[in-house]
Amino acid sequence: MTSTINGGISFWYADDGIPAPREPLAGDSTADVCIVGGGYTGLWTAYYLKKAVPFLNITVLEAKFCGYGASGRNGGWLYNGIAGRDRYARLHGHDAAVRLQQAMNNTVDEVVRTAAEEGIDAGIHRGGVLEVAYTPAQLARLRAFHATEVAFGEKDRELYGARETAERVRVAGAVGSSWTPHGARLHPVKLLKGLATAVEALGVTVHESTPVTEIRPKHAVTPYGTVRAPYVIRCTEGFTASLAGLRRTWLPMNSSMIATAPLPAEVWEEIGWSGRETLGDMAHAYMYAQRTADDRIALGGRGVPYRYGSRTDDDGSTQAATVDALRAVLVRFFPQLTGTEITHAWSGVLGVPRDWCATVTLDRSTGLGWAGGYVGSGVATANLAARTLRDLIQQDSGQAGPTDLTALPWVGHKVRKWEPEPLRWLGVHTLYAAYRSADRHELTHHTADTARIATLANRISGRR
Ligand SMILES: Cc1cc2nc3c(=O)[nH]c(=O)nc-3n(C[C@H](O)[C@H](O)[C@H](O)COP(=O)(O)OP(=O)(O)OC[C@H]3O[C@@H](n4cnc5c(N)ncnc54)[C@H](O)[C@@H]3O)c2cc1C
Repeated sequence: MTSTINGGISFWYADDGIPAPREPLAGDSTADVCIVGGGYTGLWTAYYLKKAVPFLNITVLEAKFCGYGASGRNGGWLYNGIAGRDRYARLHGHDAAVRLQQAMNNTVDEVVRTAAEEGIDAGIHRGGVLEVAYTPAQLARLRAFHATEVAFGEKDRELYGARETAERVRVAGAVGSSWTPHGARLHPVKLLKGLATAVEALGVTVHESTPVTEIRPKHAVTPYGTVRAPYVIRCTEGFTASLAGLRRTWLPMNSSMIATAPLPAEVWEEIGWSGRETLGDMAHAYMYAQRTADDRIALGGRGVPYRYGSRTDDDGSTQAATVDALRAVLVRFFPQLTGTEITHAWSGVLGVPRDWCATVTLDRSTGLGWAGGYVGSGVATANLAARTLRDLIQQDSGQAGPTDLTALPWVGHKVRKWEPEPLRWLGVHTLYAAYRSADRHELTHHTADTARIATLANRISGRR
């Protein structure tokens, strides 16, 4: 058995290769729009803006290389979940939140359509999303979750019992599941690289190895020069804390993944999963997984949730204990995979706002914009954010009026900062310790009640 490759950004890069580097910024320059960060948010924003207004001079500044962050490391769930929808329903009314949900459903279609139009082969398979329950408490939450999603307009969502679940994927002990067609599996890096190529082909300037050290109105400052632009758009999600003045804006939450070696046909016959749905569960410290195009299982979960002082990982390396914990989840789901080779392990950071709500904003008085805080649901949401930023910039520059997207309830949402350390570290670690304890409790106590410690933790953390 070979040992696991830990880090190296992600399995997706091991599979598809690190791209050839693009030139850094070579001195002071100007642009109409300067985008900081070359992940999905930054690149989709450049893409839609340049498509809408071809004469715009757009510059993307990326600290390392495009896709270095979560966009090159994620689980490849392109799906319609958006962080904060239920809070937005409470703040702006049910109908506004239904419009937001509908926009997310459409966003899954939009990404699939645009990838095809641009000739990007991102291994997209539209199998929908299957979320399973394997304890009575999870089943109760699953039913409530299913009812909520239907109430927010997902009339095409289906609720399955144990037998129907097993007909899709044979997860050990699964007692039920909820399936939505609004999701697809993809290869994150293939999407990212294709998008970067498409953006450059449109005439957008992309500088890599160019860290922005300070963002202020009309300026993005780097060690190699300053880009002056009427609009400066921050698209740095989980890395935002490293920018001057933004340390407590979005918390960099870790998520880690493992990938198995390709599994043989006889194992797939036992497991099923021929629909290649993205697969998740209803645990508090939940898992997410996909069956890759080359027949591996790539599976992720929280591991060590947060590093003290908002630090980020070193090129995707994760803790040995996290690899063991994810392997245990894999084996709990599919006991026949005990002893299966884990070829890759990695981690990344996602951005979590204090109220756990994704946002997109353009401050019209300064020309500063940003989008993120997707709390682990950013693959599709970044695309909706980008089209919204396009509309906001066009509206602000007088080229267009308000649109359906600029009227969505997550636009311009304000949130307070995270607590200073050590409270931030203590809070997040206590929250996930509570989640893990609640999951253990629910596995051993066969009642339908959600463990009280999880409910309490959600309330105290401001998550629900
Ligand atoms: C392990 C993992 C699994 C996930 N799985 C899923 C999933 O299956 N489905 C889903 O919907 N979401 C998932 N997410 C979340 C999703 O990947 C992110 O929300 C999304 O990719 C964020 O895109 P982004 O462009 O906003 O940020 P990023 O992709 O993080 O891009 C930010 C970019 O900014 C650059 N940068 C940082 N600081 C600076 C600076 N100072 N100057 C210039 N550039 C800078 C970084 O190098 C990076 O390239 C996952 C996240 C992780 C970490």
